[in-house]
Amino acid sequence: RRGDLDARELFAAYRARAAADDTNSFTWLADGAPESVPGAETVLAGLPIAVKDLFCIEGVPTASCSNLLRGYRPPYTATAIERLQGAGATVLGKTNQDEFAMGSSNENSAFGAVRNPWDRTRVPGGSSGGSAAAVAAGLAPAAIGTDTGGSVRQPAALCGVVGLKPTYGTVSRYGMIAFASSLDQAGPIGRTVADTALLLQQMVGAGGQAGSATVDPRDATSIGWQGADALGIPSADRLDGVRIGVPTELLADGVEPGVRAAFDASLRHAEALGATVTEVTLPHARHALAAYYVIAPAEASSNLSRFDGVRYGNRVQAQGDGLVDLYTKTRHDGFGPEVKRRIMLGTFALSSGYYDAYYGRAQQVRTKIVEDYRAAFEDVDLIATPTSPSVAWELGALTDDPVAMYAQDVMTLPVSLAGIPAISIPAGLADGLPVGLQLAGPAFSEPRILDAAHALE
Ligand code: GLN
Repeated sequence: RRGDLDARELFAAYRARAAADDTNSFTWLADGAPESVPGAETVLAGLPIAVKDLFCIEGVPTASCSNLLRGYRPPYTATAIERLQGAGATVLGKTNQDEFAMGSSNENSAFGAVRNPWDRTRVPGGSSGGSAAAVAAGLAPAAIGTDTGGSVRQPAALCGVVGLKPTYGTVSRYGMIAFASSLDQAGPIGRTVADTALLLQQMVGAGGQAGSATVDPRDATSIGWQGADALGIPSADRLDGVRIGVPTELLADGVEPGVRAAFDASLRHAEALGATVTEVTLPHARHALAAYYVIAPAEASSNLSRFDGVRYGNRVQAQGDGLVDLYTKTRHDGFGPEVKRRIMLGTFALSSGYYDAYYGRAQQVRTKIVEDYRAAFEDVDLIATPTSPSVAWELGALTDDPVAMYAQDVMTLPVSLAGIPAISIPAGLADGLPVGLQLAGPAFSEPRILDAAHALE
């Protein structure tokens, strides 16, 4: 019991709000308060959390919002969720997302689109749209998403909440249904910077203390928390001495004027708090879009080959079908159009004769982007951009134009390819809709990012 609300009452209150949801943020809700409520000695003591559908939770429907996996109940729980539960959190429900996390608007879901709580005719962003909308609408106090190319940061921006993508490898990927394994990273979404810091600390494990206890042997790319300082709760309210860089070439075109104005106002605010703001150059960042949309589909085409109708999920088979018919029909019926597009793109990019020209080239660009950031962080501590070039757009506005949809990721993709951490925090409104400010830093600079974000929020 903390204050005057006990954990079961808190859970029941959010459960009731989530059940009355009109944004389609949830794909599944827990029945009621869990039988045993964690004691007040745990850090998260009964905090109800909303979890993106692609996290495996033992016995809980987990479909990554694909028809191919509809009804699947995994026999085990993702490490990140297990660690949150170990810290006292309780799973309130699973949240809607783009199918296999492929999208920027949450319109590619087999469970239907999510509506933005600020304006229900608009998208919440994606792919963790349900997680961001649930927090923005007050249906859950906090949520967990995943970010491959922006899927925590961009929906947080479009829904006016806080979203953090950690350094790649910090949070275990074990039990997350894979999209692009070299990019996928789980991250918290909350109403405040401190809330996301608290969740990150627990998702990482060992209370955010650096060391081997945060490494997950079940994820081969897990490196755990290796920062010089433990992951704490930020308290800074000034930015004295903080050097913020603005990559002018990324802002050159395509940013809506209202977003630009809100971004510029955030920079002035940062200066008023003691920061210095200078221009930096990331010469290859503008090629991140092209490189990402080769690398991510290539990895996806490989990861999604496991969905063959035999080992997982649903099977489509007619009397007398052979094995190839079974594969073909299962995948034809199970995958949505964007997923099929990515599998075809990725398979093409990886095929012999094209591999060097597409996949090999994209990996070279990725290395250039890593080097660009390394050079820029010699001069500045943090790099600031808008999180998204636009505010939330009307449902359906971009669904017929995949390239225009991909272009929405222009600000978040360079960070993803570099594997570095970044946060999106609310930075005012444009046309009455939320704008997000993205702050990125070098690997394991989460404490610095969180402090600056806390001072600015
Ligand atoms: N919008 C990007 C994509 O469609 C990023 C998605 C994500 O981060 N999962 O691939």
